[in-house]
Amino acid sequence: MVKKDTPLREQTVALLNNRGVTIDDISELVYFLQKDYVVGITTNQCKENVDAVLSKREVQNAIITGIQLDIMTEKNELFEPLQSMLDKDESLYGVDETLALSIVNVYGSIGFTNYGYIDKIKPGILTKLNAHKQGEVHTFLDDLVGAIAAAAASRMAHKDPIDQDDRFR
Ligand code: MG
Repeated sequence: MVKKDTPLREQTVALLNNRGVTIDDISELVYFLQKDYVVGITTNQCKENVDAVLSKREVQNAIITGIQLDIMTEKNELFEPLQSMLDKDESLYGVDETLALSIVNVYGSIGFTNYGYIDKIKPGILTKLNAHKQGEVHTFLDDLVGAIAAAAASRMAHKDPIDQDDRFR
């Protein structure tokens, strides 16, 4: 566990790492989303945008809340009926997506398109998180990671308005 007085940003990144998600994994998703729209896009640029998203307090709050619920579900520590819903990753539950939307919103409405798209295709780390391996629960984490990537991609798009307009031509 991370020490109590560690800054929230570092605690958040440590939690993600402990759950098998690195900043590089999320940066790859951003690259996937933006490669056709940002001329000369680099992996470093993607990483910078992920870092910026992870520095926002409301993003950190969403991540630590969702991951905590995933961990407690793995430990069988929640009350029913929530325990079973999260354990089965029930599709009608929906609060995992709602929580993730609070991250998507941070950089405006382009985030919604990116989030919906990446959630459907599930590239890279998202496929791993969705494997429903025995003993692992990532009901919240998959949506959170997709949302961080979507927000980072939107941030990048806002910095590159001309290229982003091309997307809608
Ligand atoms: Mg989910």
